Amino acid sequence: MSADSNDVFVQSVVMRLCSRCKVEKPESEFYVGQKRPCKECERARMRQYRQRPEVKANIKEYNQKPEVKEKVKEKSKTPEARNRLSARKKWANQMYKLLKLTEADY
Ligand SMILES: [Zn+2]
Repeated sequence: MSADSNDVFVQSVVMRLCSRCKVEKPESEFYVGQKRPCKECERARMRQYRQRPEVKANIKEYNQKPEVKEKVKEKSKTPEARNRLSARKKWANQMYKLLKLTEADY
């Protein structure tokens, strides 16, 4: 792909209105072909979903499985995984603060 075709792509970017946060965003911020809120809203929803006690218990149970434990251990050994994890944690903390702020604004 040349720089020219990139320009065309940027110019023809389709904007969509998120049904949840009511913010107009480029289509790349939405999951393709699905009538869903934007990725940001979906992530927030998933986070809330994971906070539910019954879901938490399920995740815990899943993580307790020996084969899963082994996989996680293998994955977390690499420095890349460690970096990714701390970056994700930082991001989650930021998002959490942000969400709390916006919630308080309502
Ligand atoms: Zn949204």
